[in-house]
Amino acid sequence: ERKASLAASSGPGATSDGHTVPLLANVGGPADVPAAVEAGAEGVGLFRTEFLFLDDSKKAPSEEKQIESYRKVLEAFPEGRVVVRVLDAGADKPLDFLTPADEPNPALGVRGLRSLLDHPDVLRTQLTALAKAAEGLPVHLEVMAPMVADRIDAKAFAAACREAGLQAKFGAMVEIPSAALRARSILQEVEFLSLGTNDLAQYTFAADRQVGAVSRLQDPWQPALLDLIAMSADAARAEGKSCGVCGEAASDPLLACVLTGLGVTSLSMGAASIPYVRATLAKYTLAQCERAAAAARAADSAEEARVAAQAVLSGE
Ligand code: PEP
Ligand code: MG
Repeated sequence: ERKASLAASSGPGATSDGHTVPLLANVGGPADVPAAVEAGAEGVGLFRTEFLFLDDSKKAPSEEKQIESYRKVLEAFPEGRVVVRVLDAGADKPLDFLTPADEPNPALGVRGLRSLLDHPDVLRTQLTALAKAAEGLPVHLEVMAPMVADRIDAKAFAAACREAGLQAKFGAMVEIPSAALRARSILQEVEFLSLGTNDLAQYTFAADRQVGAVSRLQDPWQPALLDLIAMSADAARAEGKSCGVCGEAASDPLLACVLTGLGVTSLSMGAASIPYVRATLAKYTLAQCERAAAAARAADSAEEARVAAQAVLSGE
């Protein structure tokens, strides 16, 4: 029965009353593209380019090698959106040539956009490679920066994109609570937001995402995390811009409905989750998703939030 309902669910992501929420795939490179296409992804919502850089921790891949890899992903979604994240090095993804080795707290150190702003040549090569890879393709290229803390970060990233001659939308990931709190200010510099809920949970709860002992605090149903997501989505709506989710939160079908109710405009996840999220979203109206979101935010724990949202959606 599960198989039949999944087979029946294809096409764009939408609630039962037709509110569309594009369902996009998270990919690490060309090897992940066939599964994304097979799952009916409407594009890529997070291309984690660091995998290309992990082959050699001594130096960045050549511009040619980058162009080749980016082009293969861009070609797979001719009319779709592809959101490429520039290199997110540091913390759990150290690279000798980019990230300091002697940091006491690498997750709070020079990682993500911070390391790229310290190495403008690496950022420039990556942006130029992206511009060349997209040349002549009808794809809607969007490029975003990881670990944006404030408007100064967003402005520096947008300036680097413009200098590289990139014909694309520029965006900021919301992974640090300061970015959610000041989302409207960041949106003065960039055209979209994408919530990285894995890091946003880590930094909101001071709970290392690699430490199992604090995993309770990494639960994406935590009402405090939902509040920050709502704040970001509200800011984007007020600015007439989009705000997607590309962290693990988007792959939980029930939470995907809650995120939709919070005003998130697209959901990006591992390809395997797309059919389940599509099928669940199609069962409920936008108003039901909004009521489930309000119930989840009114809860005092992740578990209560989950139960409250489920109760609303199953009409209890
Ligand atoms: C996130 O932090 O939620 C995210 C999408 O980025 P990554 O998991 O690659 O850090
Ligand atoms: Mg992250």
